[in-house]
Amino acid sequence: MKIESIAVYQIDLPLVEGRYSWADGKFVEKFDSTIVEIRTDQEAVGLGEVCPLGPFYLPAFGTGARAGIEEIAPGLIGLVPTEIMKIKRHMDSALLGHPYVKSCIDMACWDLLGKETGKPLWALLGGKFGDSIQLYRAISQESPNEMAHKVAKYREEGYQKFQLKVGSSPEEDIERIHTVRSLLDRDEVLVADANTGWTAPEALRVANAVSSLDIFIEQPCASYQKCVSVRDRISTPFILDETIDGLEILLRAHNDRAMDVINLKISKVGGITVACQIRDLCVSLGIPMTIEDSWGGDIITAAIAHLAHSTPEEFRFSSTDFNSYSPISNAFGAPVRDNGMMTASDKPGLGVTLNKDIVGEPVAIYS
Ligand code: MG
Repeated sequence: MKIESIAVYQIDLPLVEGRYSWADGKFVEKFDSTIVEIRTDQEAVGLGEVCPLGPFYLPAFGTGARAGIEEIAPGLIGLVPTEIMKIKRHMDSALLGHPYVKSCIDMACWDLLGKETGKPLWALLGGKFGDSIQLYRAISQESPNEMAHKVAKYREEGYQKFQLKVGSSPEEDIERIHTVRSLLDRDEVLVADANTGWTAPEALRVANAVSSLDIFIEQPCASYQKCVSVRDRISTPFILDETIDGLEILLRAHNDRAMDVINLKISKVGGITVACQIRDLCVSLGIPMTIEDSWGGDIITAAIAHLAHSTPEEFRFSSTDFNSYSPISNAFGAPVRDNGMMTASDKPGLGVTLNKDIVGEPVAIYS
């Protein structure tokens, strides 16, 4: 099998709720998603997707993904897409950094490896653990009462894990956390995700004011060092997300006892290949993970499902069904949430086919 061409599609993913807001007044009303379709000298095509959470969540943005693909894609023509590590090395030598750009191509190569071998991705990544994957719902930042109202609504849909978008004023965040936790049963999980929005003293104020509650605090501050300084002074279970962007920092953080859980996002680390390395290392080190991506449509949701379903259950803190946040479906065959859970497809590869009526014509083809 050889790569003959790479088609690139762009699609905007609006939100069912209209807007998604998080720390520091940041918000997105439609997500700029990039899809690659790797076409080969055989019948199979490989699909991959990257969808940054706006241009100001991580160092990643929609037009950047397509500009980066333009740098990388021409050099991949003629290569064997199922030689995953060779493709990765090739991409790394063609473009320094920009892991999110490479993520969608890496994902499409895994899709092709599955199709060539006739196996679903979960089988290639270690085997399926359990019947289904438990999901969390991200609760966009609004007033404490609005957020409590949303939690009650999503609870009725079957979710039992909630991630509150905090990271604004400590007073209001304290109220958000208290109000929502009081709604939940003991077996339900609440994460207060500040998305780097607090200073260390703000984080300490919030953490101290909610210290009697059963919650997790996620990524309070922008820098790793600041997060550790907060972590060292509180007893609340602690999650790191934005600052854990590769193997080296994961090992350092483990050594520093800097967190209890990490948030593993596929595009943040450059694709399924590195996400799987990190996942396997976390399993060996005993670190549970939220397994997800920055954002995405059906293709990314499928990839998340395969990575999560092939992870031993005790290390699956939670995952996300991003395809339920938008009314637009960019592919067929993706997991559909059922009572707060999803399941990875048993079809070869990712198990999805492109919804060509929705994605339209390619914005670029490299051949
Ligand atoms: Mg997070």
